[in-house]
Amino acid sequence: MIPLIKTLLPAKEILLPRLEEVLYSGYIAQGDVVDEFESAFSKYIGAKNCLSVNSGTSALHIALILAGVKPGDEVVSTAITAEPTNTVITQTGAKIVWGDIDLDTGNLCPNSVESKITDKTKAIIAVDYAGTPINIKRFQEIEKKYNIVVIQDSAHALGASFQNEKLGNHFKYTTFSFQAIKHMTTVDGGMICIKDDNEFEKAKLIRWFGIKKGFSRLENNIHIQGYKYHMNNVNATIGLVQLENISETIDKYIENGKFYDKELQNIEGVELLKYYPESQPSYWLYTLKVQRRGDFIKSMADNGIMASELHKRNDLHSIFSDFKTKLPNVDKFEKTWVHIPSGWWVTEKDREKIVDCIKKGW
Ligand SMILES: *Cc1c(COP(=O)(O)O)cnc(C)c1O
Repeated sequence: MIPLIKTLLPAKEILLPRLEEVLYSGYIAQGDVVDEFESAFSKYIGAKNCLSVNSGTSALHIALILAGVKPGDEVVSTAITAEPTNTVITQTGAKIVWGDIDLDTGNLCPNSVESKITDKTKAIIAVDYAGTPINIKRFQEIEKKYNIVVIQDSAHALGASFQNEKLGNHFKYTTFSFQAIKHMTTVDGGMICIKDDNEFEKAKLIRWFGIKKGFSRLENNIHIQGYKYHMNNVNATIGLVQLENISETIDKYIENGKFYDKELQNIEGVELLKYYPESQPSYWLYTLKVQRRGDFIKSMADNGIMASELHKRNDLHSIFSDFKTKLPNVDKFEKTWVHIPSGWWVTEKDREKIVDCIKKGW
C-alpha cells in the first residue's frame, strides 16, 4: 500500500553517531544544540527570530498568549484542520468563532473572517491546510484594517512560499510542527517565528516557566506565567540532521504535487483545488474533490493506494458544540474532499500509477 503519510528519519549511519554523542555528552536538556537548531532553521526560512518548542501545539499556545488572548475573548478559526489548532484556543479560555472556507482551496475565507469580527476578536488562526498557503495578501490587509493579530498555523506547510519568500515571514507569528508525520520530524517538536524582537524575548520566558536562562535562580524573579514548552538537545540534534536535507525533501513533495496539478486536469468526477496568486504550496497532502468519495477511496485501496479525508471537520467535536454555526462551504467541501499521497516516498512510478488509477475511474 502506498501510504498517505510516512515518517522520514535520516539514515542510521548518519543519525545514530550524532545522537550517541549528544545522549552521553552530559547535556541533554535545552542547551547549545537547541540554539544551533534554531539558527539553522532561521537560515532555512529566512526569518530572524525562530524559537523552538516541544510541539506545534505549544508554539500555537505561545502565539495566543503573545497576542493577548484571554478567557472570554474570541478567536476566529477554521474547522478544516487538525484538532490542535482549535483545542489550543479553548485551552486559553477563549471562544472559537468558526470562519467559513474558500471552496476552491479549503482554506479559511478572508471575507467570511471579516464578517465574523467583533470587538471581542483578539486573534485569527489561519491554517495552510495540506500545505497550501492561505490568502496571505488578504489576511495582511485584515490585520491592518482591524488591528487584529493573524497567527499562521503552518504545521502542514514547511517550505511553502509566497512571492518567493518562505512562510514564516508574513505575519507576527507563524508556527510549525515537527511531529512524527509532518514534512520534517524531530520525533516531537515545534517552532514559532516571531517578528518583534521584544516579543521574541518574552516568548523565551513563556517557554520555560518564566525563568530567564543564563541567570541563576537567585538572580531570577518570575513575573509572567510560563510553561515547560522548551525543546531539548536530543530532539534538536535530530532537527539539525534533518535540516541538512530539508530542501531535497520538500522538493520531492513539490515535484509530486506539480505532477498531479498537471496530470489530473479534466478528469471526469475530479475537481482540483486552486492556489492563491504567487503562492507555492509544499503539498504535505495532495487534496482533491471527487464524486462518490467512498467508491474512490475503495478503488484506490484495491489498487494499493491509500486515499483518505484524514481529518474530521473540527466543529463536529462535542467539546466545540457551544460554537456551532452555519458553514455552507465547509458543508460542501466535506462531502467531496480527499487526499492522495504526495510525499517523499511517492516515486515517479507510484505517482504515475496513482494518476492512471484515477483516470481509469472508480
Ligand atoms: C500537527 C498539527 C499541529 C500541532 O502540532 P503538534 O506538534 O502535534 O503539537 C497544529 N496544527 C496543525 C494544522 C497540525 O497538523
